[in-house]
Amino acid sequence: MIIISNKLFTKLLKNYTGISIFPFIILKYGKDDFSTQPYEIIVNHERIHLRQQLETLVIFFYLLYLIFYIINRIKGMRHYDAYRNIPFERESYINEKDLNYLKHRKFWNWVTFSRSQPSETKSRT
Ligand SMILES: [Zn+2]
Repeated sequence: MIIISNKLFTKLLKNYTGISIFPFIILKYGKDDFSTQPYEIIVNHERIHLRQQLETLVIFFYLLYLIFYIINRIKGMRHYDAYRNIPFERESYINEKDLNYLKHRKFWNWVTFSRSQPSETKSRT
C-alpha cells in the first residue's frame, strides 16, 4: 500500500524520499514528481524493506536497524555511511534496480549484506 505525504518529509525526514512501515510505503512525492530516479526503483527499494520487515516480525527489523546503525557509529562512521551500511539498506540499494528481485530473493537474504562498504548515493530509508 503506497501513501504519498510530503508533510511527513518536511521536518523529521527531510533528507529522505521514502520510508516503509509495514504494511505501508510512504513516499514524499507522487509518481510524476520523481525526477532523479525512476519511481519504480524507489518503490522496489521500499518493497524490499517490507519483505525484510515481514521476515523479522516487523519489530525486530526496527530494533536491528537501530542496533546496526549504532554499531556503525561506534565504528566511527558518520551518519550517512552508518545508515548506508545497515545490512537492510545495503540489500535494498544493491538490488533496487532489479525489479524482479523479490521474486527470486532468498529468505533472510539481508544477512549476507552485513559486510561494511563505503557508499555514495542519496538517502532513502
Ligand atoms: Zn532503505
